[in-house]
Amino acid sequence: MTALSYRYVALTDTGLRRSTNQDSGYASDRLLVIADGMGGAAAGDLASSETMHIIRQLDRDLDVDALDALERAVHRANDRLAELIRKDPAVEGMGTTLEAMLWDGEKLAVAHLGDSRAYRLRGGTLTQISADHTFVQSLVDEGKISPAEARVHPHRSLLLRALLGRDDNDADLSWLQPMLGDRYLLCSDGLTDMVADDVIREALQSETIDMAATELVRLALENGGVDNVTVVIAEFVEKGADPDQHLSSADGQPQLVGAAASQARPRTGEATTDRDEPGEFDPEELRYAPRPPSSRRRLRGLAIALVVAALVVVAGSLAYSWTQKQYFIAASEGKVTVFRGIQANIPLLDLDHVEERTTITLASLSDFQRKQVEAGIEASSKDDALRTIAALDVRAPAPEPTETPTPKPTSKSTTKSTASETAWLR
Ligand code: CA
Repeated sequence: MTALSYRYVALTDTGLRRSTNQDSGYASDRLLVIADGMGGAAAGDLASSETMHIIRQLDRDLDVDALDALERAVHRANDRLAELIRKDPAVEGMGTTLEAMLWDGEKLAVAHLGDSRAYRLRGGTLTQISADHTFVQSLVDEGKISPAEARVHPHRSLLLRALLGRDDNDADLSWLQPMLGDRYLLCSDGLTDMVADDVIREALQSETIDMAATELVRLALENGGVDNVTVVIAEFVEKGADPDQHLSSADGQPQLVGAAASQARPRTGEATTDRDEPGEFDPEELRYAPRPPSSRRRLRGLAIALVVAALVVVAGSLAYSWTQKQYFIAASEGKVTVFRGIQANIPLLDLDHVEERTTITLASLSDFQRKQVEAGIEASSKDDALRTIAALDVRAPAPEPTETPTPKPTSKSTTKSTASETAWLR
């Protein structure tokens, strides 16, 4: 197999609507990174640049497995964000996406978190390598909306996972095996929100990667440039090939762009809500949403809120009849029960009633499932509710004391319980 190396370029633009750049980009002959910060202007570029400063410490000779090194660096960056948030509550809620590729001389170790993307162009075919950690992608995965609908969805930038200084958001880690002639593109959503994949494919085929980067950024601006746009491109060539002196990477120097380049060290304790326009709502501050138990519940929650508002304002009978076509599972008289209606405490309004009480007692459920039932579980129909109940892991009633000790539950039943709890959380 031909030994490979790659040429690289990193380019960013603040865009036409924002006054600050919260993206950071990095490209060197070993490491490619994008970090798209969020959480208000000051906090967003703090999260992005601080993460970048930690990840780019990987740009050196490594004596360990590249994927392990990358994973550890992601954890260090996460710990750093946690520390910054602890020290300065004003930056609470800040975070960043992360798309990083580390070259070990033969293959690329990849870490992905959030909605910055990685694409591969091979033989004229563009493939998206990363899967967006977004609410709309979860709807696409569940078959609820098409990719085309996701592109224009009002909540398309809502993230389900990002680097936030918390313990519950892990990066996707994988290996890629590049081939001679491959081009890899890492980019922030400032590109992919503005430019369709087939246009990206065409631009990425420009004569050189420097031209491709310029063209991609230009296209994002031409299509509105509402967000910071950052691209990092690598092109795999034969190792030892003469460097193309026309390329920006010919000098062999790393390229650092965006927030991390303009901010050598973070401004801790100074994070203010430095909004682009005074009084204007900054959608970036609300980009991250923790993953809900199910996306249906999230939508349902929103629908309930809207319906409740409608009830209060117009006491609409239509809204009321909608509520009566909804179902949920909750506890009633110590039993698992299907309710019709919605769970909402509104004075003078009775929005739920018992549809069917089962014989399953709360006591027969695991602690976890009992709490779920007590909190209420949404269902799309009565059948759906009954199916959910059928999937409950019901323990047999406690046996009467006998002379011989009853064997403890086997590990098999423990496994089953765990599996059903996992499904539960979807
Ligand atoms: Ca962005």
